[in-house]
Amino acid sequence: MAARNAKAQLRTDLKRVFRALGFASKHLNGRRAPKATQNSYFDVYQSLGLAWEFLSLQCQHWDGYKRTRDRKLACRICGKIKGVQERYILLTDSGVKRIGSRQTPTSKKTFANKNKAQLIHDQIVFHGALLDVDVHNSYKSNLFGKGHEITVAADRRVTLNESDIKCSVDKFVVDIKVESPSGKIFKPPYGEFPWEISKEKLKSFPVIFHFDDKYEFLGLTIIRPVKK
Ligand SMILES: [Zn+2]
Repeated sequence: MAARNAKAQLRTDLKRVFRALGFASKHLNGRRAPKATQNSYFDVYQSLGLAWEFLSLQCQHWDGYKRTRDRKLACRICGKIKGVQERYILLTDSGVKRIGSRQTPTSKKTFANKNKAQLIHDQIVFHGALLDVDVHNSYKSNLFGKGHEITVAADRRVTLNESDIKCSVDKFVVDIKVESPSGKIFKPPYGEFPWEISKEKLKSFPVIFHFDDKYEFLGLTIIRPVKK
């Protein structure tokens, strides 16, 4: 029921905008109008265009598409062309917000550079936390200088930055970086498996491993270091 009301309301609102657009465009093209008046109509037309864009974001294209004169598919309600990228995103203020869909690498090919291999690189700051999604196909990189070309594997990497912790998840690794409590970093950090470190030294790492009866790894908890 709510959806039907939304559809009816939207149809009414859009009709009003289309009528106003027609009215403004007629005056915009009238040759006799003074320049200043024409400029005003131009501004009105632009603003109405913006109103149309925002209204059409609410449209779920319930009634399907019709073919336009230039053989494109336009929504029967809002007139948006199918497959054209949206300039704005509409989010509800309650419930789960969704932007985009889950994308993974699409090709087995190795592309000439990251630009050509990039599928998505997008970020959102959500109530103070930064979320970054980077999805790309495989590409050639000379990150280490000319003549040292490497092939970067196709990947989907999601990174969350919350206060001074950065957690990134890709196909092979879950990586957590914690800012040094003293704030000072002089050289790259060491990295070793737990069994390579003496029991005594292990005591300085506030990490709890989770596992089942068969010692299958189920996760870990890190007690956050206290800032000094
Ligand atoms: Zn529509």
